[in-house]
Amino acid sequence: MNVVRYDTRAVLSGLPDDPYGAVGLPIYATAAFAFSSLEEGARRFATGEGYTYSRAQNPTNQALEERLAALEGAADAAVFASGQAATLSAVIALAQSGDEVIAATGLFGQTTGLFNHVLGLMGINVHYVPAERDAVAEVLSDRTRAIFVETLSNPDLSIPDFEGIAALAEAHGIAFIVDNTFGAVGALARPLTLGAHVVVESLTKWASGHGSVLGGTVLARRTDLWQRYAPYTTPDAEGKTLWSTFGPQAYMARVRQLGLSLMGMTLSPFHAYLIFQGLETLPLRVERASRTAMELATFLQGHPKVLKVRCPALPQDPSHERAKRYFRAFGTLLTIEVEEGSEGAARVLDKCRLLQAPNVGDVRTLVVHPWTTTHGRLSEPARLKAGVKPGLIRISVGLEDPEDLKAWLGECLA
Ligand SMILES: *Cc1c(COP(=O)(O)O)cnc(C)c1O
Repeated sequence: MNVVRYDTRAVLSGLPDDPYGAVGLPIYATAAFAFSSLEEGARRFATGEGYTYSRAQNPTNQALEERLAALEGAADAAVFASGQAATLSAVIALAQSGDEVIAATGLFGQTTGLFNHVLGLMGINVHYVPAERDAVAEVLSDRTRAIFVETLSNPDLSIPDFEGIAALAEAHGIAFIVDNTFGAVGALARPLTLGAHVVVESLTKWASGHGSVLGGTVLARRTDLWQRYAPYTTPDAEGKTLWSTFGPQAYMARVRQLGLSLMGMTLSPFHAYLIFQGLETLPLRVERASRTAMELATFLQGHPKVLKVRCPALPQDPSHERAKRYFRAFGTLLTIEVEEGSEGAARVLDKCRLLQAPNVGDVRTLVVHPWTTTHGRLSEPARLKAGVKPGLIRISVGLEDPEDLKAWLGECLA
C-alpha cells in the first residue's frame, strides 16, 4: 500500500480482509479471543502472533495502526488511549533511572508536566533547550537516551532544525523522537523521512478531526539503533534479549509491552474506528483549513487592532522558510496579539461568535487565550519564554467558509 500516493493511502490503507466483504472497518467489540486448541493458545502467547486479549491487540486497532504507519511512512505503529499515553510509552521504552532526555523548550504543557513529574518519579532527568542542533549538542552526555522535539511548537509556531538534530542523533547513536501532532499524521510533515527514529502523536487533534475522541500513537522506522540500548540487550532467564528475538522491531515490541500489555493504556476499538474514519478526510481537511488560515493571516495582518500575526504561511514569518522546506502546506494555525494584554484579549474573545476551546485540528474553528488556559499553570517567566504573551490569541482554523470567519473576527476586533 506504501507505493500509492498519500491521499490514496488515507482512504484505502489498513482495511482488513473481511469475510463478508465489508467496505468500512468492522469494530471488534471483544475483550478476549478464543483459541482452536491448547496448542494454538500456547503458540499465540509464546510468539505474540494472533490475538489473545484486547489490552494487547485488537483487529480494529491493528487496522488503524496499519493506516497510520502507511501515512507516516513508518514500519511499525502502536495506538494508545491518548497522546499522553503514547508519549510516556515511547520514552520509557528507551530511558531508565539515571538516564537523561533532551527536550525542546516550549513543548506542549502536559508533555512538560509528564516529563517533570512522571519521568522525574522514575529518576529520568529532562534538559530543556531550543530545538536547534548546537543547543542540543551542548547538553548531550553519555547518559542521553533520547532527543524529543515537536514539529511545530504551540503557540510559538517555531519549527525545529530537523536535519541538524537528526544528523547529531545519528552520529551519537541516540534516538530522535518527534511529537508530530501538529504535522497531522503526515498531511503536513513526515519526520520519519527527515531523520527521526520515532514519532509520537495525539490522534485527538487532526487525525480524528472532529474533536470527538482521544487517542495517541507511537510510530517507528526499523533501525539497528536499539542494539545500543541496555533494555534490548540484557538477557532474560532463558538467555534471550529483545534484540535477539525482535531485531529492528524490538523497540515497538517494548513500547507495546510497557504501554499496552503492562500499563493498559489501550485505545477502545470504538474510538479506533472513529479515528480510522477521520483519517479518510484528513488530507482534504488540512488542505482546505491551511488555505483558510493563510487567508485569515493576510486579512488580520492588515487589521488596525492587531499588533502582530504569526502564521508560517506569511513570507516574513520566522517559520516560513522551514515550513517551505519541511511541510506540504503551511498549516491550520495562526496566532494574533491584541492590545492591552489579557483585558484586550477578553474583550475580543467574549464578543466572539467563534468557539473558545482548548483544542486544535477540529473541523470547527477554535480560539483560545493561552496565557490564562493552556499555559496558565506555568510561571510568568516560563510563559514568556514559551512565546506566550498576555495579549496572544491562538486560532485553530476549521472548515467554515473563510468569508464568515473574516466577518466574525472583524466583528469581535471592532
Ligand atoms: C494534545 C497534544 C498532546 C496530548 O495528546 P492527548 O491526546 O490530549 O493526550 C501531546 N502533544 C501535543 C503537541 C498536543 O497538541
